[in-house]
Amino acid sequence: MKQSQVKAVCAATALLLGVTACGNGKMTEVSENDAKTLQSASSEPESGILEGESASEIKIIETQTVVSDNEKENKVQYEYEQELNIIDDNYRNYYEIFVYSFYDSDGDGIGDLNGVTQKLDYIQDMGFNGIWLMPIMQSMTYHKYDVTDYYSIDTEYGTIEDFQKLVDECHKRDIRVIIDFVINHSSSKHEWFQEACAYLRELPDGEEPDAGECPYIDFYHFSNEKVNGNYYPVNGSNWYYEGVFWSEMPDLNLASDALREELQNVSKFWIDLGIDGFRMDAAMHFEENDTAFNTEVLNWLYSYCTDMNPDFYMVSEVWANKATIADYYESKTPSMFNFDAADTEGKLIKAARGNYKAANFVESMVGYQTDYAEKNEDYIDAPFIANHDMGRVANALMKDENDIKMACGLLMTMNGSPFVYYGEEIGMSSSGKKDENKRLAMIWSKTDTTGMTNGPKEADNDIESAFAGVDEQLEDPYSLLNYYKRAIRLRNENPELARGQIEIVEALTEENQAAIIKSYGDSRIGVVYNTSDETLAVNLTDTELSGMTIRGYLTLNGEGIVLENGTLTMPAQSICLLK
Ligand code: CA
Repeated sequence: MKQSQVKAVCAATALLLGVTACGNGKMTEVSENDAKTLQSASSEPESGILEGESASEIKIIETQTVVSDNEKENKVQYEYEQELNIIDDNYRNYYEIFVYSFYDSDGDGIGDLNGVTQKLDYIQDMGFNGIWLMPIMQSMTYHKYDVTDYYSIDTEYGTIEDFQKLVDECHKRDIRVIIDFVINHSSSKHEWFQEACAYLRELPDGEEPDAGECPYIDFYHFSNEKVNGNYYPVNGSNWYYEGVFWSEMPDLNLASDALREELQNVSKFWIDLGIDGFRMDAAMHFEENDTAFNTEVLNWLYSYCTDMNPDFYMVSEVWANKATIADYYESKTPSMFNFDAADTEGKLIKAARGNYKAANFVESMVGYQTDYAEKNEDYIDAPFIANHDMGRVANALMKDENDIKMACGLLMTMNGSPFVYYGEEIGMSSSGKKDENKRLAMIWSKTDTTGMTNGPKEADNDIESAFAGVDEQLEDPYSLLNYYKRAIRLRNENPELARGQIEIVEALTEENQAAIIKSYGDSRIGVVYNTSDETLAVNLTDTELSGMTIRGYLTLNGEGIVLENGTLTMPAQSICLLK
């Protein structure tokens, strides 16, 4: 064990420090969590006697255990709220919204754009300063990833005027709006595809299609033989088309100049409406696994959009391993979602449930920094815990509120622009592999149905959330929602968290204790992690963090973090910022 990370396994040391801290008014009580740790560490919980401890320590412990019975008195007033320091750039805190399931403004059971507008105060209050709207263009499906008209708003969601109003209201609040842009494929009902198919049906056998007669023939991948399992027949002709995801999602041919010109027009249409960026769907599939081609497509579109708006943002879906994600940074577009950190087996969830040590987690952070910056020095990582294609974090972590909070804390201390999937902040559930079950109605309240959507029609209707709705969680200072809120606020107070160059403080990093420094300009901030289930005493003396003071922290249920005589006492699953 390193000298600087003396673990207070029996918690007695931590309790003593806590008592000391009571004297200076910083900490009103020792936390409940400490008391629990104490109890579990004791071989005789009834008497509270710990083997090998001195009588005086035992006496204090007994006193604290009694006090701990009163839950309210175990909470420590958080005294570290700082001034907001939000930089107006593309490092933001994003909220991913599935409009269909979010908030219904007109009572038809389907979420809509006006519903999102009505909830902007909530979004802003949570500290988000960016929203990603999943597809909003006219489509045949509830999820709307099969677009039939790129210049429209789906009638279920509202009108272009509603969208304009949403964008204006967002900008008034300094919230940027990015929208899903699905250019890998269109709907089979899109008029481009319909016209191309009609043309092929009329084409005499043996004759080559002529784009001069039907420009849309170049927009897709047509073939007069069935190339592989992903090709489907154009009914009434001898032709086939590619549809990798689904027969009703014909793949667009992004090598076509005519299509590119059209997609530039589409981009201009939305930029003129005020959008701030695109979330690029399925970027790995533009041409299956052709990284050189796909990165060129991203670069082409990003260049076009940034010519119109230099601040234009782009984040792309490359659902792959870290090395492949890094390769996509060759596109020189700002962000790739960090799939390495996401999902059930990703590093965030594994670290939160203890399958991945804190020490390894900070090494991963440095790994992202090195690997991504090597391909694009202006990269902005886009970490997230889960999205609309994944099971909810609550399920991955067995609905353990402490572990879910830990995952959030780890996410919110990562570099880049974190993305939070709507409902994650209240611990909503999913069920099984069915996509609809990952996109359930946002639970604003468990008693008041105002604005509540019906959610996807094909979703199973017996999926209960283990946690309260937004209304109740807002009232509970130690709810998951309020944990998210403080975690996001820490980012809004400390620009170093998103933007700082990371260095590991080796002397303080081992197993489930880790410490890093993030340097941004002239400013340095320390982040210390305890992902274990025990209280840790972290001695900062003679380390790069010595001399820093507490800047803010995240604890599970109102426990305090104390810095006394150079030693930081950190309750189980806590994160402390130092400056
Ligand atoms: Ca509606």
